[in-house]
Amino acid sequence: MTTGATPWDLYGLTRAELEEQLRQWELSPVHAARLWNYLYWELVDDFGAMTELPAKVRRRLEAESRLGVLPPALSTDSSDGFTRKFLLALPDGRTIETVRMRFTGRATACISTQAGCAMGCVFCATGQMGFTRHLTAGEIVAQVVHVARALRRAGEPRLRNIVLMGMGEPLHNYDATLRAVGIVRDSAGLSLGADRITLSTVGVVPGIRRLAAENQPVSLAVSLHAATQEERAALVPAAKAWPLDELMDACAAYSRLTGRRIFYEWTLIAGKNDSAEHAHAVGRLLRGLPAQVNLIPLNPTCGYDGRPGRGEAAKAFQAVLAEEYRLPSTVRQRRGIDIAAGCGQLASAPVTR
Ligand code: SAH
Ligand code: SF4
Repeated sequence: MTTGATPWDLYGLTRAELEEQLRQWELSPVHAARLWNYLYWELVDDFGAMTELPAKVRRRLEAESRLGVLPPALSTDSSDGFTRKFLLALPDGRTIETVRMRFTGRATACISTQAGCAMGCVFCATGQMGFTRHLTAGEIVAQVVHVARALRRAGEPRLRNIVLMGMGEPLHNYDATLRAVGIVRDSAGLSLGADRITLSTVGVVPGIRRLAAENQPVSLAVSLHAATQEERAALVPAAKAWPLDELMDACAAYSRLTGRRIFYEWTLIAGKNDSAEHAHAVGRLLRGLPAQVNLIPLNPTCGYDGRPGRGEAAKAFQAVLAEEYRLPSTVRQRRGIDIAAGCGQLASAPVTR
């Protein structure tokens, strides 16, 4: 851990690893506990604020590690005040977007797992920008800490929910994502509950099978959007690699093994996948599975000219699911559209300095 030329990022380490690191330096576990407290209770953004650590410990940390705070290059608020989007600068000068959403009585952070995305979904701004690189576990954790700190400074309630639904495909960056989940779940730190961490995937079948085999403590959302292979492949190119029947087998196995229901996301696009027939097709596809459908009216992006359709279409869709198939569903509240912070609208360019 200490041998590489690049200083290691404190946010990328589990508590046990941090303890081990300090033990190797012959420092007491008390210092490790204090450091962890600074990182995830005090949410400090500077070594200088760790005043209760002996100066020699701080000096060593400063020399050999890094506090991977991601400085905001820009913060934008939606006009209704419910959403704030942060453009955060990565150490290599690239940027990612992280979103804080406020609903009644709770705050949710929407976290990115990659800079860009390789999956190329036609209606998604991140897909339209292409893949730049995976984020490290530390960079994923640092986004959660950033939002938690912003809430703390604004005197708002503690961060309790995160959705891994920002830029990127979390199961294409499995190890870093799940390492980050472990770190933010630590009960001596941010202490986020498994049912309050939602991981959304485009349908990376091997990743879903691995989540199930490892019984990873997250809520799973699967982006479906179409109930036939042909229609799905037209919207989601990844469906060519992982066809719908294989995806549904993996989802059934996931629910069987973990006992958890899956949230199936369906971006509603007028005239494409929002008819009563489509709702029936979803109902038939999900019959017998523990499932909830989340309908997301299409948000605008530069590279796709579909429309979200009218609210009545979503209501009629829900009625078919509920009445004919007893399938619960919700329509996702549209938040932050005026600042392009809605689902599928996150994209970013390198900061010009
Ligand atoms: N890569 C993951 C998570 C990030 S996308 C995934 O695809 O699931 C988060 C959600 O936003 C997905 O359900 C995605 O299909 C949806 N989405 C993408 N572009 C959208 C758009 N323009 N309008 C509405 N939802 C969109
Ligand atoms: Fe990637 Fe998800 Fe966007 Fe598809 S919808 S391009 S998987 S971020």
